[in-house]
Amino acid sequence: MYLNIENIRKDFPILTQEVYGKPLVYLDNAATTQKPLCVIRKIEEVYTTINANIHRGVHYLSQRATESHEEARRTVQDYIHAASPGEIIFTRGATEAINLVAGSFCRSQCKPGDEIILTTMEHHANIVPWQIQRDITGIEIKVVPITETGEIRPEDVEELISSRTRLISVAHVSNVLGTVNPVESIIRLGHSYNIPVLIDAAQSVQHLPIDVQALDCDFLAFSSHKMYGPAGIGVLYGKEAWLDRLPPYQGGGEMIAHVSFEKTAFNELPFKFEAGTPDYAGSTALGEAIRYLGSLGLENIRRYEEQLLHYATDKLLQMDNIQILGASPQKGPVISFLVKNIHPYDMGMLLDRLGIAVRTGHHCAQPLMDAFGIEGTLRASFAFYNTEAEIDALVAGIGKVSGMF
Ligand code: PMP
Repeated sequence: MYLNIENIRKDFPILTQEVYGKPLVYLDNAATTQKPLCVIRKIEEVYTTINANIHRGVHYLSQRATESHEEARRTVQDYIHAASPGEIIFTRGATEAINLVAGSFCRSQCKPGDEIILTTMEHHANIVPWQIQRDITGIEIKVVPITETGEIRPEDVEELISSRTRLISVAHVSNVLGTVNPVESIIRLGHSYNIPVLIDAAQSVQHLPIDVQALDCDFLAFSSHKMYGPAGIGVLYGKEAWLDRLPPYQGGGEMIAHVSFEKTAFNELPFKFEAGTPDYAGSTALGEAIRYLGSLGLENIRRYEEQLLHYATDKLLQMDNIQILGASPQKGPVISFLVKNIHPYDMGMLLDRLGIAVRTGHHCAQPLMDAFGIEGTLRASFAFYNTEAEIDALVAGIGKVSGMF
């Protein structure tokens, strides 16, 4: 054991609750993670000590709030090893980050008939923004198939590349299957054809060390709330050369250098893409979440979560009525499964009554469900504050509910 889980759990008061008289077993971390006290307190600290609108005021509070927001940007920059703070755009989350790229990129770089490559295992957040652009700009969407084990093969990506391909957008880690995709190979492949690559890191940035310069991705999107920070804020990383080329996504205050009714000059990076008053309390608290992750050590987190994943996989496979979807040897701590003859929704509802929170449904990945010919699954997803005892509770719960059917 590399982490002291008992001590770590004390940082997350929500985990000590009982629901329906049972100790809470929270296994829905891929949907959102719980927040440590330091993050919760940081939000309170911003609003009780430095609250003011940022980037605008000459006064003390405004300067303090601006510093806090910009320090958070540098914290994010360090966390993903970006070359400059101007490459870190604060958004509402991964969804808005992908919408930003889809909107600005397609509007400026694509003609009717140009192609974007996605994969079968994308979250709706990495499908629908491109479909909206398809309706506006006439682009076409090509979809990389997955293998039986729930993996993407770079050769299948290459198969879809044509002279009309303008961008490849792919999840780093699947929110359903847990598959860690070979993004390094896909980025290299894309670049060998001069095609930029967007990585949806919503399910990886909290589990794996990410170095955007080593990866050489052109864009990377993620959400704070899945990495122990507050909801309502997230990040788009973009290479400076790309962000300079792309037009603004939204217009308003903050993103301008000068406005007249005849013509507006846009602000420099990153502000060109940050119209309006940003969530400076959220960014500050995200910075705190990143410091918290740093105090535990991402490598320690990765090793412990991998141990939980293997423990849970073994235990579930020992049950004779469980089928796990996705068998990639490289997986994040996410398990989607079916229980024979029991609808995932019924199982999820009854597990909830036992205090066990798992996800049921299509997990915002309906095309992936279609590929498997199913409507939905149960999904257990783990964080570093989970324990093997909680996995035992899940397995016992599934056994108990199965016995009722
Ligand atoms: N991509 C993936 C892979 C996700 O799992 C999610 C969230 N479930 C998103 C994108 C969207 O994130 P958000 O709703 O925080 O914008």
